[in-house]
Amino acid sequence: MICEVIVDIAHSDVDKIFDYVCDYPVEAGTRVVVPFGAGKTTGFVVRGKDTTDCPPEKLKRIIRADDYPAINNECLMLARKIAARYRCPLALCFRLFLPSEMRTGKVSETYRTYAHLTGAEVEISPRAKAQLALISYLREHPEEDAARLRESFGGAVNALAAKGAIVLEKRRVLRDPYQSVPQTAQEHILTPAQAQAVKTVEDAKQTVTLIHGVTGSGKTEIYLTLIARALGMGKTAIFLVPEISLTPQMLSQLRARFGAQAAILHSGLSAGERFDEWQRLRSGEARIAIGARSAVFAPLENIGIIVIDEEHDGSYSSESSPRYNTFDIALLRAQYNGGKLVLGSATPSVETYRRAKEGEFALITLKDRINARPMPQVHIADMRREVKRGNASFLSARLRERLEACLDRGNQAILFLNRRGYSQTVICRDCGYVAKCKNCDVALTYHSEENCLKCHYCGMRYKKLSICPDCGGVHLGYMGTGTQRVVSELQSQYPSARILRMDVDTTRGKEGHYKILSRFAKREADILVGTQMVAKGHDFPYVTLVGILDADMSLHFPDYRSNERTFQLISQVAGRSGRAEETGEVVLQTYDPDNFILRFAKNYDYDGFYEHEINVRAITMFPPFAKIVRVMVTGEDERETLEALKEVYTRLQTVYSAHTEDFLFFNRMHAPVKRIQNKHRYQVLMRLVKPELLKEVYDAATAVKFKNVLVYVEENPVNLS
Ligand code: ADP
Ligand code: ZN
Repeated sequence: MICEVIVDIAHSDVDKIFDYVCDYPVEAGTRVVVPFGAGKTTGFVVRGKDTTDCPPEKLKRIIRADDYPAINNECLMLARKIAARYRCPLALCFRLFLPSEMRTGKVSETYRTYAHLTGAEVEISPRAKAQLALISYLREHPEEDAARLRESFGGAVNALAAKGAIVLEKRRVLRDPYQSVPQTAQEHILTPAQAQAVKTVEDAKQTVTLIHGVTGSGKTEIYLTLIARALGMGKTAIFLVPEISLTPQMLSQLRARFGAQAAILHSGLSAGERFDEWQRLRSGEARIAIGARSAVFAPLENIGIIVIDEEHDGSYSSESSPRYNTFDIALLRAQYNGGKLVLGSATPSVETYRRAKEGEFALITLKDRINARPMPQVHIADMRREVKRGNASFLSARLRERLEACLDRGNQAILFLNRRGYSQTVICRDCGYVAKCKNCDVALTYHSEENCLKCHYCGMRYKKLSICPDCGGVHLGYMGTGTQRVVSELQSQYPSARILRMDVDTTRGKEGHYKILSRFAKREADILVGTQMVAKGHDFPYVTLVGILDADMSLHFPDYRSNERTFQLISQVAGRSGRAEETGEVVLQTYDPDNFILRFAKNYDYDGFYEHEINVRAITMFPPFAKIVRVMVTGEDERETLEALKEVYTRLQTVYSAHTEDFLFFNRMHAPVKRIQNKHRYQVLMRLVKPELLKEVYDAATAVKFKNVLVYVEENPVNLS
């Protein structure tokens, strides 16, 4: 037969189909090794056929093929769609569906030898005590690990095998990464609201349902019930969570509930473990894929349900090519399989909520916590007053008092530092003034190398401030205290308190955050200090106090989503407090106590927040009313990069001139961070009213081909640096 093959080389020059001949049948989606150029390479069969236009003397033969297709038909189709949508080589899209270990060939399969009786009559001398004992042992234990038998019965194992009384059989074993995870079964009888939610998802005419439920309203139980019901119908399921939510508690709950049916993929696994989990899914041995964003590509068939927990989380958009959005992929898969897609959040993204309100998604609202537990009360502490009183510490008087009370009662506290990236925003500590762009109304960022303030949305530069233009104060500073400083100051004030720190520095390595969170869950510490990582999905029953040290930090992040992110973050961290018997509380420190967003968050008023925010977006024409598109041009050689930029810009300008009224903004500039890893970074930034124009933007960007310059398109990028 003739096989159409895509070679696994992510370069646009070879992004086409090559024909190869093969003597035996090979299914589409199978990985093959083929001769290519002077050497050989791996590739994927995308289609089989009988004839080819390729002249016989040029037609080459497939060298080797796996005995199973690594990519099923649905995924082949998906890969094609992704390649077309994001204009990237098909080979790159295929890679999404495979564990990377499969490409690098660095996984070893593990084998173990098992012994069992053959039933053959053989003669054994009555003096061969070990052999007799082994026979009777194997009668009781029909199959046993040969290595273990050798420990007890020594040479008898091989002696009996030689006589034909037992056989030794080598079999592949899959690594079980969760052997050590304790299993805590915790199946609840659904509350009426939960039962209703399950029914709504299953009966909805829409494919997508949004579950908008406050923290602690029992969303997880709803997801697990939906998954169990899908399995009961012989279907499979995908459960997506932000990486950070794969906590020890979550893992043990999932293991208890689904046992080996679940394959849990997370960054803590070794290459071999990942590969094995993938194989278990592909072979049908495991039927639930649980993991972060990339688990949406799990090799499953007949998918009944896909859950995206914490749907608002930024980690669901990919920041490397192809720059896909997890929701889009999940929707395609749900539609293809006739399954359901559930989005869950206490604080849905503005865009998702709008689609639910307009009826595109079914909507379930859960306003109450399980057992009607009260939401923690949020106190706002005005940090301007603390400065006036001469309190230079990062702890307000209120937070200090509540922290002491919490520790005295033997409870736990979480102190949250609202820090993101290395953004430096200028704030006046006397009045709370924040420097913003005149054109864009987003906070300016200080750039030390040029000693100026810059707007990341339009590139405008401003002089560095030394006096506050609003109040004339001179206490101007950059926001953001490091976790390390907080911990050392706390330790000196509360010498007997046991403090854990959780940030990018302490969570490196295989089980980084897993370890810290388990220790905190086991009450090996009284205070957990951390960044965004502590905000998500954890359920610590003894936490009764949450302190948000600098609520303003994300409010003034140079991003049109800064209000949304702030509301989400505050609601999420607040939700960590008072989840069990004792009522929790939250102290929110700010320089801007009357801010709308903080007020909405304090009152848990999502609807109020949403109405406010959607109006702002409509007036300022930011997403979902417009699309921010950035075409990045990066390369090591500055001249070549600039040349590419010029060409990209010229092509885009043609689009712009033909549709000027559909552009709210169009310009080229240096990217805010001018160089990363020695690569010069330039961008063409646009704000589009008509999403249809995206196609032309992609056309223009992909038409420009320079050898050493990378050109790519980002849509509503999470990070504009
Ligand atoms: P969410 O995901 O909405 O934040 P969780 O699913 O974590 O909420 O539930 C909050 C708490 O309520 C958890 O401790 C969970 O074990 C418990 N819970 C959930 N459903 C029930 C139920 N039907 N009956 C009793 N407790 C429940
Ligand atoms: Zn601006």
